Amino acid sequence: MENEAPAGPGPGYPGPAPSPSSDVVAARFRRQPRRDTAHELAVRRRLHARGVRYRVDVRPCRETRARGDLVWKGRRLVVFLDGCFWHACPTCGHVPRANRDWWVAKLAGNIARDRRTDAWLESAGWRVLRFWEHEDPDVVVDAICRALGHWTAHPTG
Ligand SMILES: [Zn+2]
Repeated sequence: MENEAPAGPGPGYPGPAPSPSSDVVAARFRRQPRRDTAHELAVRRRLHARGVRYRVDVRPCRETRARGDLVWKGRRLVVFLDGCFWHACPTCGHVPRANRDWWVAKLAGNIARDRRTDAWLESAGWRVLRFWEHEDPDVVVDAICRALGHWTAHPTG
């Protein structure tokens, strides 16, 4: 699940996005794809190669607006492949220096929303797996296959 526009003023709403204050910030925005990132594609390619089929970017159920990056409705498994920037990875996420206060609020809001999403899905009987963009796609796929109870050897040749 990637960054989505805040619904509007409310608790945790950091205010409208500041205009990028420099070319550096504008370039950073452009480098942060929100969907079909290289990491997501790498994970999906590996799942496909192992014969695992999945649905991409769907709401697991009607009662939540959250969209899983990979969803298995029958197995009630939702996988999020979190971008290190938008989801504020503690290992490699960072806060842009320009408009810092806005970004701190924005990223904190994203984290809070992720935790609410997890809690909601788990209370509704879903298993939720989250992986960081910096995690090795092979390791991610191994974990997903274990969760699905689906294990096939790495393809040979
Ligand atoms: Zn990271």
